[in-house]
Amino acid sequence: MPELPEVETIRRGLRKLVIDKVVVKITTFEPKSFVGDVKKAEQRRVMGLARRGKALIIQLEGGVNLLVHLRMTGQLVYVGTRRWGGGHPTDDFLNSLPSAHTRVMVEFDDAGRLFFNDQRKFGFIKVLSDDEVEQDSFIKKLGTDALAEEFGWRDLKRQFLRHPKSKVKAALLDQTVVAGVGNIYADESLFFAGVHPERLVGSLNDKEIEKIWRGVRETMQKSIDVGGSSLKNYVKADGKKGNYLELFAQVFHKEGLRCPKCGAEIVKIRSVGRGTHICPNCQKLGK
Ligand SMILES: [Zn+2]
Repeated sequence: MPELPEVETIRRGLRKLVIDKVVVKITTFEPKSFVGDVKKAEQRRVMGLARRGKALIIQLEGGVNLLVHLRMTGQLVYVGTRRWGGGHPTDDFLNSLPSAHTRVMVEFDDAGRLFFNDQRKFGFIKVLSDDEVEQDSFIKKLGTDALAEEFGWRDLKRQFLRHPKSKVKAALLDQTVVAGVGNIYADESLFFAGVHPERLVGSLNDKEIEKIWRGVRETMQKSIDVGGSSLKNYVKADGKKGNYLELFAQVFHKEGLRCPKCGAEIVKIRSVGRGTHICPNCQKLGK
């Protein structure tokens, strides 16, 4: 599932390609993937690209926005003078488009085309005014953005104190506590901090909370530095398909491999209903 760093990678990549271009036509191939009237967004210039948690906002002139939520399997692929893609990595990064998974196509005045592909159709694009963006159910409930400069470890502590009986992994995944942390970054930051995901928030000391905060920031930054789950990492220089997790993940999808800190075997457990990756030696429940 595309998470905050992947969406931030998309924001940065797409910005260079579509800013100042005029949206001339929007075609929807799947009605439930596009909410609102396409006419409201057509014939408007792209003024900026913003991100709120895991939502991407394409800001058009006249206070109109295209809010893109990728959810489980969404991806954006731009085809123009160059090809660029980000989000859930699939062969649609490379295939001729539109494909069977294309839900929405946005055409620009320079003949560039942006494809929203989504195998499982949980993602969507919505046309919203500036005010409506703030009222959107996905945006309204968001806590401080995990990458925001003003988000310090004491802010995380303050949010955690509201949920002392939650398991720490559940608290990290709660988008009202901090916006943008999904399964990958919850596992990676708890490994970084040496904290078991089932520890209760109320049992954590300041040092542990500070380490979890640092883990969130550092693993996300590392992921952005390597380009998130983008086309760039999907196809390696030798033409083979890559996995961007290899570039930064320490425990996520590493079950059966050795812990980079202590050499014990990384295991996959079930925690708060999610597949969860830990080093049983570095992350003890009784600790
Ligand atoms: Zn270990």
